[in-house]
Amino acid sequence: MLAPLRADPAAAAILTDVDGTIAPIVDRPEDAAVPGGTRELLGLLAQRYAFVACVSGRPALEARRIVGLDDVAYSGNHGFELLLPGAEMPRPDPSLDGHEEDARRFVDALDARDLDRVGIRVEDKGAIVALHWRGAENEGEAESLAREIESGADWTGLVAHRGRKVLEIRPDVAINKGIAVAALIPARPVRAALYGGDDRTDVDAFTALRTLREDGELDSVACVAVGSEEAPAEVTANADLTVDGPEGFAGVLRALAQ
Ligand SMILES: [Mg+2]
Repeated sequence: MLAPLRADPAAAAILTDVDGTIAPIVDRPEDAAVPGGTRELLGLLAQRYAFVACVSGRPALEARRIVGLDDVAYSGNHGFELLLPGAEMPRPDPSLDGHEEDARRFVDALDARDLDRVGIRVEDKGAIVALHWRGAENEGEAESLAREIESGADWTGLVAHRGRKVLEIRPDVAINKGIAVAALIPARPVRAALYGGDDRTDVDAFTALRTLREDGELDSVACVAVGSEEAPAEVTANADLTVDGPEGFAGVLRALAQ
């Protein structure tokens, strides 16, 4: 599966999610880190391949801080912003115009005491607000409140997206990791691409790569699921290959570097 990429690295793109794919999942998202060996591999790939991009649900600057490499591109907030190699600031996607505050307004109106009581933490990411309950005393109770909030958000015309112990509230604009990937690839002279991810939002990126292949923009595509006990089944079901955790994905990167 990796052969078409390795055969012509200058015409191949490596795209990867960050949390759960190159950075192991940790209880507190602020503690996430990319292991040194993986960082070195990504740095090497960025020199050898057409380009390397990290496609994350985190703000782009935060993704860059965690990955620690300046010469790769970062698509942050699920594609709402793009930070190009060497750029100082990310540029927001134009479709966000006028919707920057939608998610924040909705979350501000929630009962903060309720959130506190079940241990849901609010992370303000700008256009997107994330509610986390990993490590809450009673994760089940937190999740049921999150489900209520999810339907409230739907009802309000926002987009609620559930991930691994996180609910994201997003404005209703057409952006996701797939649209981000579909914007990154055709702008560059690549014929092959690999994407690695561990969560539902990454399936959009898998689909986007396959659509580019069907449209003749790419000749070969490799969709890699990073499996774990809590990985949603639809990620592995939609992948060409499933590896075991971030360590398994580091193995893929190593094979690409060889
Ligand atoms: Mg992830």
